[in-house]
Amino acid sequence: MLYGSIEAGGTKFVCAVGDETLEILHRESFPTTNPEQTMKDVVAFFKPYEEQMAGIGIGSFGPIDIHEDSPTYGFITSTPKVAWQNFDFVGMMKREFSVPIAWTTDVNAAAYGEYRFGHGQDVDSVVYYTIGTGVGGGAIQKGRFVEGFSHPEMGHMLVVPHVDDSYKGNCPFHGNCLEGMAAGPAIEKRLGKKGADVPETDPFWLIEAEYIAQCVYNTTLMLSPDVIILGGGVMKQTHMLEKVRKAFTKLMQGYVQTPPLATYIVTPALEDNAGTMGCLALAQKVACSTEK
Ligand code: ADP
Ligand code: ZN
Repeated sequence: MLYGSIEAGGTKFVCAVGDETLEILHRESFPTTNPEQTMKDVVAFFKPYEEQMAGIGIGSFGPIDIHEDSPTYGFITSTPKVAWQNFDFVGMMKREFSVPIAWTTDVNAAAYGEYRFGHGQDVDSVVYYTIGTGVGGGAIQKGRFVEGFSHPEMGHMLVVPHVDDSYKGNCPFHGNCLEGMAAGPAIEKRLGKKGADVPETDPFWLIEAEYIAQCVYNTTLMLSPDVIILGGGVMKQTHMLEKVRKAFTKLMQGYVQTPPLATYIVTPALEDNAGTMGCLALAQKVACSTEK
């Protein structure tokens, strides 16, 4: 029995096949172009495994429709990526593969990966943020994704501009929301170079840490999770974690007694595998729940 994973991101789709122990047997990435082209690659990747496939887990960029009783369930909906607007992702996969499909956001999938196999293993509630090309957040409380009329869009929370930061933000919807101020492209536009090329000693990183700390502060006050996991390309700056913890402590002023920050504000234990592991585990879960 095999499980499939699709991490559908804005720049690439990472497809993987795992066995019953969720060990990854094969993994490949395809560029995100348009649904016709990218999905052709995705379908071709899984076809050789079709006979043994028991379920597929998809973690997609969004916004997406997650309501099972909605006529557009399984669609990518109002994404700024025009070619992908109103794309019937789950429907398309179901036409190609007659297996149960788990469908959630890319960050929820990564949150689930950490919840099952990483920093969330021994706790009930985790929040996962990715700070990369965009900022996204997903939360699990007592084993369930936090959602209501739709999935959360935590990356667009408002942040208070730093006094030393004159950048106005680049979110097309909100300007200076968290994504507009702190995602990779905002760093690049502000400083004229990629985040990876900004030295650790650059004072900008204190400003960046301040925005991420505001996000952790808001998350703490709203959800009181057991752990907050910060992933994505920008957190590859290993010095950032400690800067975020310091800025968070200053913001919180001791108002809430969180778990020790060394275990409360962390980077993903699974590193870049959180999304794939989450999708595989969700595939296994949906396959088992529909077993006769
Ligand atoms: P995506 O969000 O597209 O899935 P990533 O999480 O890798 O992918 O995020 C990519 C973003 O992170 C880019 O804007 C890139 O400039 C930035 N980034 C990647 N590596 C680093 C690094 N070491 N330091 C700072 N920023 C980085
Ligand atoms: Zn925004």
